[in-house]
Amino acid sequence: MVSGGFEVYQKRLAELKERIAQACARAGRDPEDVKIVGVTKYVGVEETRSLIEAGLHDLGENRISVAAPKLEAIPAVTGVRWHFIGHLQTNKVKDVLGHFAMIHSLDRLSLAKEISKRAVAAGLVVPCLVQVNVSGEESKGGLAPQEVAGFLQAAKELPGLAIRGLMTMAPVAEDPEAVRPVFRGLRELRDALLGQGLLAADAQELSMGMSGDFETAVEEGATLVRIGSVLVKP
Ligand SMILES: *Cc1c(COP(=O)(O)O)cnc(C)c1O
Repeated sequence: MVSGGFEVYQKRLAELKERIAQACARAGRDPEDVKIVGVTKYVGVEETRSLIEAGLHDLGENRISVAAPKLEAIPAVTGVRWHFIGHLQTNKVKDVLGHFAMIHSLDRLSLAKEISKRAVAAGLVVPCLVQVNVSGEESKGGLAPQEVAGFLQAAKELPGLAIRGLMTMAPVAEDPEAVRPVFRGLRELRDALLGQGLLAADAQELSMGMSGDFETAVEEGATLVRIGSVLVKP
């Protein structure tokens, strides 16, 4: 799947930033507060390099097997920050540690314990986002919104984790307005947890919005948008 090189990506990135800026303007937000995580799962090493050259330094992958060749070719020392955004099996935690700057998909206590245990052993503290299933769709991962407070309470005891905020995936919808309540729900949950002291001041990240719905997510407060198709698909 060839989708183009540096120039194509530069143009698409400029268009994406413009659309984010317009969404920010509608919501009275500063575009500096929205970071693009470029999802590279559809492309190989060469295209990923072009994307970096075009100006993206935060990259996301949802599977270790697909990420591995890129992690090897483009390690963290290059200044690229890799984000793990997919379902993480407990037995894959060892492959994620040290390679990813942030895990967006912390969705159960057993996973949190495994990450913390291995992180402590390696002398690391791993920034994580708690994945929340706001929509309640069965096919979606994540904790139910009412489970998050208890989870955060338990996660406080885990020294290898640094919770930085929340993440959600919205249902696929033709009309991005249909998913607005999902994004708003995640923001309201974050604000409630901040108010209760269960999220700290440095844990306000909201990872939400993908190619089909990022403008709505930005209007509702997204600080990290995970964008694949509109950047890298042919
Ligand atoms: C693939 C993927 C994305 C990006 O999706 P696009 O619609 O291609 O932008 C975002 N988040 C997760 C968790 C993904 O797996």
